[in-house]
Amino acid sequence: MPGGTEAIVRVGALALQGDVREHLAALRAAHCDAIAVRTAAELEAVDALAIPGGESTTMSRLIRAFGLEAPLRRRLADGMPTLSTCAGTILLSREIRDGTGDQLALGVLHLTTRRNGYGRQLDSFEFDLEIPEIGAPAFRAVFIRAPVIEAVGPGVEVLAVQGGRPVAVRQGRHLSLTFHPEMTADHRLHRLFVEGLERVVEGAA
Ligand code: GLN
Repeated sequence: MPGGTEAIVRVGALALQGDVREHLAALRAAHCDAIAVRTAAELEAVDALAIPGGESTTMSRLIRAFGLEAPLRRRLADGMPTLSTCAGTILLSREIRDGTGDQLALGVLHLTTRRNGYGRQLDSFEFDLEIPEIGAPAFRAVFIRAPVIEAVGPGVEVLAVQGGRPVAVRQGRHLSLTFHPEMTADHRLHRLFVEGLERVVEGAA
């Protein structure tokens, strides 16, 4: 990237469904250039991508309808880092349980995720999550029809657990959550993601 350490990382937020505006605001607060991504050209212009929550089956259909499946697969294969939340984490998983047979499993994350895995009783809940990586205070994590991460493969670091299950994981430069960090004013997880990217850009300069 030109400009060496002056370069500002540009992060896209996939803008087909979900809390796009909130993710863009949180990314900007974490000191990066943030843009909405709806086209292959916009995807080409970013260094990394945030994939919001929503409904993973609908997002799969929209990704195909917008002609983004092939460009997304190509950028991911080239190592584009991602920050994914909830449905976004499902989309990036290797194995999806309780999915529809035709939904996208982009497969970059060595995770097995079960859609709506907390069941009806726990449809939505909030939890003060200890995340050693970002320190105190605990992070107010909002779960909405969240997936359960049932298995993690090699290279996946578990950053936080709730009820004995991983809810925040990191695989290389991918930061993947089953809750919604954009719904609170606490931007520490967006910052953690952006700082990881800056280190890489500086290292490459
Ligand atoms: N249950 C949704 C799905 O299967 C995910 C919910 C969310 O992103 N908040 O895609």
